Amino acid sequence: MNPARCVSLAIPVFNEEAVLPELLSRVAGILDQTPGGPHEVVFVNDGSSDGSQALLETAAARDQRITVVALSRNFGHQAALSAAFDYVTGDVVLAMDADLQDTPEILPDLLRRLDEGFDVVVVRRAARKESWWLRVAYHTAYRLIARMSDIPLTVDAGDFALMTRRVVDAIRALPERERYLRGLRSWVGYRQTSVVVPRAERAGGTSKYSLGRLISLAMDGAFSFSLVPLRVSAAVGFIAFGFAILFSIYSIFVRLVLGRVPQGFTALIVVMTFLAGLVLIAVWIVGEYVGRIYAEVKHRPLYVVDTVARGGRPAERR
Ligand code: UDP
Ligand code: MG
Repeated sequence: MNPARCVSLAIPVFNEEAVLPELLSRVAGILDQTPGGPHEVVFVNDGSSDGSQALLETAAARDQRITVVALSRNFGHQAALSAAFDYVTGDVVLAMDADLQDTPEILPDLLRRLDEGFDVVVVRRAARKESWWLRVAYHTAYRLIARMSDIPLTVDAGDFALMTRRVVDAIRALPERERYLRGLRSWVGYRQTSVVVPRAERAGGTSKYSLGRLISLAMDGAFSFSLVPLRVSAAVGFIAFGFAILFSIYSIFVRLVLGRVPQGFTALIVVMTFLAGLVLIAVWIVGEYVGRIYAEVKHRPLYVVDTVARGGRPAERR
């Protein structure tokens, strides 16, 4: 449809020296075959402590299509991808991971789908290769978040997606500091579609997401796209309150009509600790929102750039 368009790849990199050589050659290969151009690859080095930066800079010196943005420290995957979105210049942007779990070879298929009139083509994962409990956790988390969310979120989809320029610009224009990018991408709207592709295994190295970081990403999804957690705690509160009223009526009835004193020290302790637990959970839920508001009002930038290498020139300090 638009053979003259330029494709940008946006790739966050954190300690990926084990996979970079293969990534660089596969990405160059696929861009060579893609009509249009000039295409580009924007790598954002998210404060890697291994040889990633050296590998990227060498590649950028040889290939004009490569831009390397080095952040001043590790800001996290979502911030790094946001940085990549700020530096891409193409007409369409493919966001992908560096570890080749997102296979660049499907680019032609994604472009074809885009040409059917879509603005976003999301890659959904069939069959994950992780352990069974992680698969169950992902499955439930995605569905739970999508169920709670105010907007339709694509389930089983990560950040791997092809987007038109206007989608990327719309995401960049969103002011929030908390970047749950796959959610923001849905929020933007336009015509979106998805393709299902089996998720490859990591080509090398290990996952940079610890369990804690995964949970925190899932919580970002839950808390930034819905007020349901607040309403759940309200609902639980009302139910507990209803029980308390009924039980008081029952106790008064037993005392006045039957003349018995209601017993039950153990039951008392159980109910008290149970309710105290519920109250603390509710406070935590409120706290999550308050904490997020705090992070937003501070208005800190998402990332700080150390150096940029582009157009075949060596890395320059920012
Ligand atoms: N990544 C990053 N900063 C981080 C963690 C990860 O830029 O703090 C990058 C990483 O190099 C990879 C992508 O984000 O390109 C996804 O990370 P990973 O493959 O470790 O996550 P998983 O696929 O295991 O969820
Ligand atoms: Mg991965």
